[in-house]
Amino acid sequence: MKSWSKPRDANLVPEIGGLRLFDTRSQTFLNPISDNSMNLYVCGVTPYDSAHLGHAFTYLTFDTLIRVARDTGAKTTYVQNVTDIDEPLFERAISTGQKWQELSRSQTDIYCRSMQRINLLPPDHFLPVTENIEYIIQAAESIADQSYKLDSTTYFKSSEIDSASFTQLSIQELIKISRDRGGDPETPGKQNALDPKLWVPSINDEPRWDSKFGVGRPGWHIECIALSDKVFGGTFDVQGGGEDLIYPHHALCDQMSIALHEKTLARIFAHVGLVSYEDEKMSKSKGNLVFVDDLIKDETDSQAVRVLLLNQPWQTAWEYHEPLFLEARSRFMGWVQSYENAGFGNPIQLIHELRLVLRNNLNSQAALSLLDKYSSVQSSFEERKVSADAVWALLGLDLEGNRI
Ligand SMILES: [Zn+2]
Repeated sequence: MKSWSKPRDANLVPEIGGLRLFDTRSQTFLNPISDNSMNLYVCGVTPYDSAHLGHAFTYLTFDTLIRVARDTGAKTTYVQNVTDIDEPLFERAISTGQKWQELSRSQTDIYCRSMQRINLLPPDHFLPVTENIEYIIQAAESIADQSYKLDSTTYFKSSEIDSASFTQLSIQELIKISRDRGGDPETPGKQNALDPKLWVPSINDEPRWDSKFGVGRPGWHIECIALSDKVFGGTFDVQGGGEDLIYPHHALCDQMSIALHEKTLARIFAHVGLVSYEDEKMSKSKGNLVFVDDLIKDETDSQAVRVLLLNQPWQTAWEYHEPLFLEARSRFMGWVQSYENAGFGNPIQLIHELRLVLRNNLNSQAALSLLDKYSSVQSSFEERKVSADAVWALLGLDLEGNRI
């Protein structure tokens, strides 16, 4: 499936160097680049509603990771899936009287437009589940020996000890999270309360495919393993997503990956903090969503969304308030004015310092502070151009106003 158009190329000569990124599983910083390349898989959306700030924060974080990795000279391959056969999509389709396929298609289009509007680099592979079902069935069937059937549902035999070690949480905490996030720990007859669904029977007009488990559809976790395998063929460098994917999704993806080919799914699992609004986590069920499209009235707004999000430490949960957006907008306009009137001092110094902070666990907040620090420091027109090119390459911010 086509995603969205890529922004104009950046003109910044890469400089070889190290990069460190926080890994949830080991709780340490690791280098996401191996053999001068970075293979990244970011779990995508279930397309049943518009993209909100929480989505934008997650995808912008990995957009920054790609920009920074490329700036070290690494080749990047970026995969993002579309979970287009999930329960919330079916439920929304029924409640709005639409066909789930139509809802999914229209919302995927809107999602892509929103991501383009905030100037995100598009994935190299944008993979909806429904277009890749043969890979998913094959992966699910390959781990059939580690599954069991209860009524018409097939469960994967998970390890609660491995889940506890992946998440640094107790089994009681995992059961609570599983219950809160669509799991069914209370279902009687399960071998282990935390076992996830590998294959489920379809109801109503839900999609259905034939497999050795019967007619039905795959569970969520196996989809991401099969789709990443399709492109990377085994362990890749970074599996990314929001913090709410640590458990159950990523912990169980990793267990299924080990069951499938005795290898961990990814070297690094990177998780982005959640965004709240009006004292609660931004979520569709609570209805407290701030949609990206609603914030953007013009090009400056789309840059302001980037500044707003880049100004938050990516691993930390935060709460959105409207003044933060207005502040980001006027900060960006101040930089544009500096670019027009003076510049950002010596571009070699600016680029050197931007690289230092961004290569240190993507400290984009510090990168923006550098723009403040050097703004209005006199430079020649040529030097200003070099600074603007670097800011475009590393932060996706268009100080010249002609790149988007
Ligand atoms: Zn996933």
